[in-house]
Amino acid sequence: MIYMVKIGLEIHCQLNTKSKLFCSCSTNISEKEPNSETCPVCLGFPGYKPVVNKKAIDFTIGIGIALGCTISNETFFSRKTYFYPDMSKNFQITQYEIPIATGGSIDIEGNKIRIRRVHLEEDPAKIVYANGDISTTEYTLIDYNRSGIPLAEIVTEPDIETPKEARKLLEKISAILEYLNVYDVSKEASLRVDANISSEGERVEIKNITGFENVEKALSYEVIRQKSMTRMKKVIERETRHFDETTRTTKGLRKKEYEEDYGYIFDPDLPSIRIDDAWINSIKDNLPELPDNKVKRFVGEYKISDYDAGVIAYTGKDMADFFEDCCKIYKRYDNISKWIINYLLKSLNWNSQKVSESKVKPNTFIELLEIMDNGEITERYAKELIKEYVDSGISPRALAKKNEFKVTDAELKKTVEGILKENEKALEDLKAGKENAKQYIIGLVLKATNNQANPKLIIKIMEELIH
Ligand code: ZN
Ligand code: MN
Repeated sequence: MIYMVKIGLEIHCQLNTKSKLFCSCSTNISEKEPNSETCPVCLGFPGYKPVVNKKAIDFTIGIGIALGCTISNETFFSRKTYFYPDMSKNFQITQYEIPIATGGSIDIEGNKIRIRRVHLEEDPAKIVYANGDISTTEYTLIDYNRSGIPLAEIVTEPDIETPKEARKLLEKISAILEYLNVYDVSKEASLRVDANISSEGERVEIKNITGFENVEKALSYEVIRQKSMTRMKKVIERETRHFDETTRTTKGLRKKEYEEDYGYIFDPDLPSIRIDDAWINSIKDNLPELPDNKVKRFVGEYKISDYDAGVIAYTGKDMADFFEDCCKIYKRYDNISKWIINYLLKSLNWNSQKVSESKVKPNTFIELLEIMDNGEITERYAKELIKEYVDSGISPRALAKKNEFKVTDAELKKTVEGILKENEKALEDLKAGKENAKQYIIGLVLKATNNQANPKLIIKIMEELIH
């Protein structure tokens, strides 16, 4: 029997506006003293009135459009009542009844994941667990610097079928958000995920997971836990759980409340907001080219495969730009995408670098392809060289030259002689002019010299020796 699970995500994205959602405090809090970037509004003092940040609404409309949603012409804020130290007002200003955007979708390898809604809300304060985590800490500290930073919350329908698919969806959404330039990709905590998962019993929610890998791990653990619960005929209750990164397990926190339990009420301090079509269109017109459109254009314009275009576009805007810059100076476009995907990305990932942060530049990267094309180096050697090139940023031709000198001509001649002597059969074939014998010997020589020899020179020596 196939064990069916349904997964839905709530993705909180910290928007990179300059100021907070309802006051003029800065959102740039990473280096600040705890509780220094605060005011009576974001500390929740009674009587202080919030004023909404228009930029945050613009960003949320942009996200909605990019995810294929319908933008509401009228929207308003509500108070979600709960008692917890991270929210001194005892309510969070969020959207419930009419969010800014509804009803989009994202395609993950042919599976359509529906987006239920995108709404705007304030981030609560940050709780710092002094020793250990939420379940083991002796006391907690609170930093209100984070309180009031705008969050766009993207809520999916439970259309996700596996933990891996959840991760792919997150990668896709984060790439789209990066293109929109609405959040800081470099900060892991900029995207926080609540994952809902249900199988045989009630829905279980895993709260506040940072890192896409952790989302996949938390869900994978939960699938196994729920399976064994079902096998033991235990009831899976509706509850909220916490993912422990060190043990990679989830632990029960509390029995889950229902949305209605929060007693949402319309916030009387904030007027309802009219979003007319002119507003929506002005944002639509100013959206950057999004990854799906780039994929289509790359396939049409550069005749590379759909797969290659997808990898390049979704790796990030900087990689897409890099690819196009390379295409301006070198015309074998499919060779560019091949070398980016199979070798460049691997070396960059190895250094955990984005191409824009690395020493890799279009002209030197193309030089690597060109010296391969004209036979200055072999493809095999280029695969070795690319790691050194990514690390150093030195021109591949200069690198090849430098490495070549490590084996002197005399040494190389000796090596080739030795190898020919040991491989009589290949030597005969070589004399008979067989190309594969030639390649075979080159391979052996390169291996013996640790790829530090020039293939052209090897061929020259071989020819001298057999004639
Ligand atoms: Zn403030
Ligand atoms: Mn939320």
